[in-house]
Amino acid sequence: MVGYPSPVDFALAPEDEAFRDELRAWLDKHLPPFLEAESLGDDASLSGEASQRRRQAWQRKLNEGGWAAIHWGPEYANGRTINAMQRLIYSEVMAEYRTPGMFNTNGIWQIGPMIIAWGTEEQKAQWLPSILGADEHWCQGFSEPDAGNDLANLRTLAASDGDDYVVNGSKIWISSAHLATWGLFLLRTDPTAIERGKKHEGITAFILNLHTPGIEVRPIRDMAGEELFNEIFFTDVRIPAAWRLGEEGQGWMVAMGTLGYERVGIASQISILSADLRAMVEAARSVNPGALEDPSLRDRIAKVWTEIELARLLSLRALSKIMKGEKNWPEVPFAKLSWSSMAQTLAELAVDLLGPAGLLGRGGPDAVDRGKWTRLYAFQRYSTIGGGSTEIQKNIIADRAIAMPGRSRTS
Ligand SMILES: Cc1cc2nc3c(=O)[nH]c(=O)nc-3n(C[C@H](O)[C@H](O)[C@H](O)COP(=O)(O)OP(=O)(O)OC[C@H]3O[C@@H](n4cnc5c(N)ncnc54)[C@H](O)[C@@H]3O)c2cc1C
Repeated sequence: MVGYPSPVDFALAPEDEAFRDELRAWLDKHLPPFLEAESLGDDASLSGEASQRRRQAWQRKLNEGGWAAIHWGPEYANGRTINAMQRLIYSEVMAEYRTPGMFNTNGIWQIGPMIIAWGTEEQKAQWLPSILGADEHWCQGFSEPDAGNDLANLRTLAASDGDDYVVNGSKIWISSAHLATWGLFLLRTDPTAIERGKKHEGITAFILNLHTPGIEVRPIRDMAGEELFNEIFFTDVRIPAAWRLGEEGQGWMVAMGTLGYERVGIASQISILSADLRAMVEAARSVNPGALEDPSLRDRIAKVWTEIELARLLSLRALSKIMKGEKNWPEVPFAKLSWSSMAQTLAELAVDLLGPAGLLGRGGPDAVDRGKWTRLYAFQRYSTIGGGSTEIQKNIIADRAIAMPGRSRTS
């Protein structure tokens, strides 16, 4: 590894402690009545209608308290300014309290900040309230059949035509597009860029209304039985130039902003794994207590706990670097790698730990935690693919973190 790691200061500053205490106090007051009043819905099904209604209600409740979009800044979201450490604290506390998910997770964490960074005042006024207030659902449309890890190869064309653009092509794997009214999309406005060997150029970001004529959204059923992500087909779709975010050709920079947020989000995913481990041990105590005496399972619990703790420290080190104005490198690809393998290890441990009851899928009265663990067992396969696959993270580490000889650098 190049260079020495920065020392990490584990002590919370007084303002960070105050932030954590304020959030905990708010949750103590508002979460229990919310959970009692709301019909819980089938939360194991992420795309189910009841689950969406519950997420919508929870996001609105958070927004009332100024806790929905804590990183948007006071101008846009109920008056809060936070630092990077408070963002991590926010995720850890939410995981600790096992709060429901938000309705517009993508919109809040990734798309909103990009509209704030790149949008005109009219665009901000048009779209930010819809994301924040959970009035309409938002998705993020980047991937295409030949542009996944190699995102810059995207070819869905937006051809300029007077005051409009005309869009043709297709996207794939777009999470929750079937529920969405709006989405942030990357489209190619200069098809010659690929032939010129400059594929990162000629890409432009747009906010699209998915109910526009010529757009067809087709859900894809995944191996967990969910219809969570979708194909989207565009046939001569006419959209106004006012939906363009930033200038033509700036799409790659917009994309890097949203993916940067996605990768910082790994820290919060690690907090969720830690809460999941505690919850599955708790569940095993009641449905399969003998498993907790099994030395090989005890060994696996200890191992995964240690790995989670290591990943947490890695993300703290990355955070510490960000706060000192240094590059959070190479901790981010390492943290993504360790999170993705742990997510799968943990899901496998859950079904082994919970015994026969742990295999019951959702819907049945005896399903443990409403079938959460069986669903995760299948669903967590995604963790080594989405957000940059394992092989690509390893390539990046080989090229840039350890500068392995004999490799031509990945772009
Ligand atoms: C659950 C889930 C939700 C998603 N949601 C969204 C969404 O909302 N919006 C969106 O835009 N996208 C979404 N995606 C798509 C995701 O970003 C892509 O799946 C990801 O970028 C990988 O692209 P790909 O599937 O085309 O695989 P490919 O890039 O085709 O890769 C296929 C395999 O080849 C390997 N590979 C590729 N290139 C190399 C190389 N140079 N060296 C070594 N190995 C290589 C990969 O590691 C992988 O194993 C989602 C994916 C999943 C699984």
